Amino acid sequence: MSRFLVKKVAVLGAGVMGAQIAAHLVNVKVPVVLFDLPGKDSPNGIVTKAIEGLKKLKPAPLGVASDAELIQAANYEQHLDLLKDCDLIIEAIAERMDWKRDLYQKIAPHIGAHTIVASNTSGLSITQLSEALPEALRPRFCGIHFFNPPRYMTLVELIATPATQPHILDDLETFVTSGLGKNVVRAKDTPNFIANRIGIAGMLATMKEVENFGLTPDVVDDLTGKKLGRASSGTFRTADVVGLDTMAHVIKTLQDTLSAQTDPFYSSFATPLVLKTLLDKGHLGQKTKAGFFKKVGRDIQRFDLSEGDYVPAGAKADEVYGRMLKKPAAERLKLLRNSEGAQGQFLWAILRNSFHYAAIHLASIADTARDVDFAMRFGFGMKQGPFELWQDAGWLEVAKMVQEDIDAGKALCAAPLPDWVFKGPVADAGGVHTSQGSWNPSTQQFEGKRELPVYARQHFPQDVLGAHAPQAMKSGTTLFENSALRVWTLDGEVLIASIKTKMHAISPDVTEGLMQAVDLAEKNYQGLVIWSPDEMFSAGADLQSMLPAFMVGGVGMIEGVEAELQNLMLRLRYASVPTVAAVQGLALGGGCEMAVYCAKRVAAMESYIGLVEVGVGLVPGAGGLTYIARRAAENAAASTGKDILPFLTEGFTAAAMAKVGTSALESRKLGYLLESDVVVPHKDELLFVAINEVRSMSASGYRPPHPRQFAVAGRSGLATIKGQLVNMRDGGFISAHDFHIASLIANVVTGGDINDGTLVNEAYLMTLERKAFCALLTHPKTQARIMAMMNTGKPLRN
Ligand code: NAD
Repeated sequence: MSRFLVKKVAVLGAGVMGAQIAAHLVNVKVPVVLFDLPGKDSPNGIVTKAIEGLKKLKPAPLGVASDAELIQAANYEQHLDLLKDCDLIIEAIAERMDWKRDLYQKIAPHIGAHTIVASNTSGLSITQLSEALPEALRPRFCGIHFFNPPRYMTLVELIATPATQPHILDDLETFVTSGLGKNVVRAKDTPNFIANRIGIAGMLATMKEVENFGLTPDVVDDLTGKKLGRASSGTFRTADVVGLDTMAHVIKTLQDTLSAQTDPFYSSFATPLVLKTLLDKGHLGQKTKAGFFKKVGRDIQRFDLSEGDYVPAGAKADEVYGRMLKKPAAERLKLLRNSEGAQGQFLWAILRNSFHYAAIHLASIADTARDVDFAMRFGFGMKQGPFELWQDAGWLEVAKMVQEDIDAGKALCAAPLPDWVFKGPVADAGGVHTSQGSWNPSTQQFEGKRELPVYARQHFPQDVLGAHAPQAMKSGTTLFENSALRVWTLDGEVLIASIKTKMHAISPDVTEGLMQAVDLAEKNYQGLVIWSPDEMFSAGADLQSMLPAFMVGGVGMIEGVEAELQNLMLRLRYASVPTVAAVQGLALGGGCEMAVYCAKRVAAMESYIGLVEVGVGLVPGAGGLTYIARRAAENAAASTGKDILPFLTEGFTAAAMAKVGTSALESRKLGYLLESDVVVPHKDELLFVAINEVRSMSASGYRPPHPRQFAVAGRSGLATIKGQLVNMRDGGFISAHDFHIASLIANVVTGGDINDGTLVNEAYLMTLERKAFCALLTHPKTQARIMAMMNTGKPLRN
């Protein structure tokens, strides 16, 4: 079998996108060389500046900022010979057809015979771009359209030309999916492809309706953000974040490459006056700190066209529309359409426009309706794509309402909805998505997803509403289930435990259920995976569920609850079968402890792991501190110095400052993942990888570690740490209560008032942990922190 191996990638263009794409390649361990034009002062000047910039950019493009040094800097004058060793070249230079084509001619002689070349253009014709390449290269050329910020936005559109070899696209889709963790949608080679075509046309249409209904950007963003199931930044703040110049580029591509003949909505693509005014003034959005909105001190202002200046912002939508938007889809759309107020009519108008636009263009821009809905979900952060919402609300009823508006001249153009909307298979099925597949108006069929071997790695891939895709929590065989936990298996060989509580909080039911799951796994299975389908591992022990125990039995009862939790951790660690934590999203406090006590961890790139108990005035009480002490002892034992304290400092600081890794990679730096743990770029592959880890560990004759004694830093280590804490308290960096908690943490991780180098076991340290935890529970300042967290969700510093 021949396999497309990506050993090295070249990214051309170290601008906003190129530099961040290079960063993401580093995140997923792909060596990358980043090119740009030679700089004025030094040949690699432009690139080295861009690499430096990556360390400070927010949201962070790199999992670990210092990994920026792994990006190799290059320029087109000196380093073109580096291209021959690259398996993939991604071009991301400025959005100009002539510049891109010139560059292709320059690099063509240096490209390897197997290399795939792909352009990250936002919307230029891929076919026209390809014409600048020698004929022999064209079968290996295509479009690869990432979304900004590329680490976090999961959509990548792949675009073929008539000359692109099909297997090239399959190879690239495989790499982009599994290697980079993205969701691939294939788009036709039409202006701005799918997401930007529909998304930007939608933004322009929205701006037009804003004028029609006389609304202001703050109210519009309130209406068109989370409440509408879209990105929380709404319409105008999204534009500011994207950059008004970038948006203007994409609009210009629409204006230059389309016409009233090719797009009946063409007249609505004129640049809105307010946007033009902002661009003329150089207000480009976030990058120039002023766009539709501007932050002045703590206040937000909005640009007011009639004033020609910024005025106070912060107006909210009428509450009644918030309530309407919570109703089921069918009722929601009817209520909005019939509402008398401008805000409701505006909402109906933008939804109607989006249905109208998507239906008219489906056949020309995409293969199926699924590709349109996926593009809008993954590229624009919508909860549902336009076809999904339409189908959810009742296909024919909505179609009739839209057509009535078109006939009444209320829509953006007079083009009627296509025939397939009203008659034939779509009308019969009640929508474009069915369990057989999604509608392709060109073939007049419902078509299933592309089948590539890489998709076998996703047990429960995301799918569109109406496709009736298997749901994880209803699949496989359930061994036992209650409201807190489901223990089940997909294959009869590996057991899976899925936590069901809110934020996957670890309640006594979860603890007990997991204990039973380990018992069962030891009896009948190769091992246990802890995994839940939603993007969250566990936000920690359930403080709320501890309250009744505290009220009834006081601290004594809580000590029992903590002891149970500690037993669970030890059970996970010493089980005779492998236990694997499949971590994604938050793994905090008790969630972090559960992960570190499993035999192994597989973690999605977007995993945020940490011991955060200090935030509620507590210390990690379920083995977290014992883990830190043991790891320090193990690391010290493996070193030449044998001194524990240097190895302890990092773990101590992480717990005392409640540090949370901002990626799986950073969580590893904090010590919550080991080098031997696996980081998985695509979260939908997590379960597959975890199950395979259990299988291979089991097949290699897994035995749990020996329970061993280990050395602690003792009273001298404690004294050193405390000395530093005193300085911090006296210098006003931490409060007296922070000092108290940190001292208790130091007491546990050093073993307390014993000689340094004393050998202890886990049970000894866990007892210290429990005592510290319970002592803090009765402290009024800790109680105030807990109450604040439960009431406001925010930590109180006291
Ligand atoms: P940018 O302006 O930040 O960077 C462009 C880079 O191209 C610069 O580093 C510049 O030095 C280099 N460059 C300029 N002229 C050149 C030339 N003649 N030859 C070689 N290099 C040249 O742009 P960007 O936002 O990173 O966009 C890059 C590409 O990615 C564009 O095609 C754009 O449409 C596309 N894109 C942008 C976004 C976005 O949100 N910014 C999203 C998706 C795709």
